Amino acid sequence: MSTLENKTAFVTGGSRGIGAGIVRKLAKEGADVAFTYVSGKEAAENLVKEIEALGRKAVAIQADSANAASVIASVETTAAQFGKIDILVNNAGVGTFGPLDTYPLEDFDKTFDINVRSVFVAIQAAVKHMGTGGRIITIGSTNATRMPFEGGGVYAASKAAVQGLTLGLSRDLGPLGITINNVQPGPVNTDLNPEDGPFADFLRTQMPVGRYAHVDEIGSFVAYLAGPDAGFITGASLNIDGGFKG
Ligand code: NDP
Repeated sequence: MSTLENKTAFVTGGSRGIGAGIVRKLAKEGADVAFTYVSGKEAAENLVKEIEALGRKAVAIQADSANAASVIASVETTAAQFGKIDILVNNAGVGTFGPLDTYPLEDFDKTFDINVRSVFVAIQAAVKHMGTGGRIITIGSTNATRMPFEGGGVYAASKAAVQGLTLGLSRDLGPLGITINNVQPGPVNTDLNPEDGPFADFLRTQMPVGRYAHVDEIGSFVAYLAGPDAGFITGASLNIDGGFKG
C-alpha cells in the first residue's frame, strides 16, 4: 500500500530540479500534488501530464515566491482544489553568490524574500488548511553550516535562518499535531548546480561519496518525512549531503 494514499501536497518551485523530484515521489506514493513555478510553463504542464498518468491529480500554479501575496494565493488555490493540505514542501529557493565588497543589497533582499520570508508566509497560510498529521518540510542546504568557498555568505545565512525557523515553529505546530523539518541537501544535479558545472569537480572532493545526488534521492527522503512513519521527527535539520565536509 502506498504511504501517502488520500493525502494532498503543495510544493513550491516544483516544475524542475529537486522540486520536480519531490512532486514525482509524493505522487508515486499516492498523493495529489499542486506545485508552483515562475516562468517555465511548458515544463510545469508536462509534469502535470506525467503525474496525471500515474492516476493522481496535479495542479501547476504560476507564483513567484518573492511575492508574499502570490504565495498566499497559491496556497489558497491548492486548498480550494483539494479541500485540504496535508503536506507543505517549501522548496523554491535561489542561490546568489558574489564577492563581499560588491555584493548588491538587492540580491540580499531577493535571497531572503524567497529562501526565508516565503517559507514563513507559506506555513502561515497552509496551517489553516492542515489537520492533525500535517507535515511541513523545507529544503534548506548543507551550506547553512558548511560553506567551502568565498561569496556564499548570504546564501548560507538564508539557509541557516531556515534552521531556526524550523526549530522555533516546531513549538507552535506540535500542539496542532503537525511536524516541521528542514532537509539539507548537498550538491544535487539540477540546473542550479549541474554536475558538469564549473564548481562540480571541487564539490565532489568535499564528499566521501564523491558524486552529486540525484533529485529522486531527495524526493524519497522528503516522502519519508511526509509519511506516517515520521511522526516523531520534528524541529530537525537533517543532512542528505554525501558526507559534505566543506
Ligand atoms: P532549480 O533552479 O534547478 O529549480 C528551480 C525550481 O523552482 C523551478 O521549478 C523554478 O521554476 C522554481 N522557482 C525558481 N524561482 C522561483 C521563485 N522565485 N518562486 C517560485 N518558484 C521558483 O533549483 P534546485 O532544484 O537546484 O533547488 C531547489 C531548492 O534546493 C532550493 O531551495 C535550493 O536552495 C536547494 N538546494 C539545492 C541544491 C543543489 O545542489 N541543487 C543543494 C542544496 C539546496 P521555473 O522553471 O518557472 O523557473
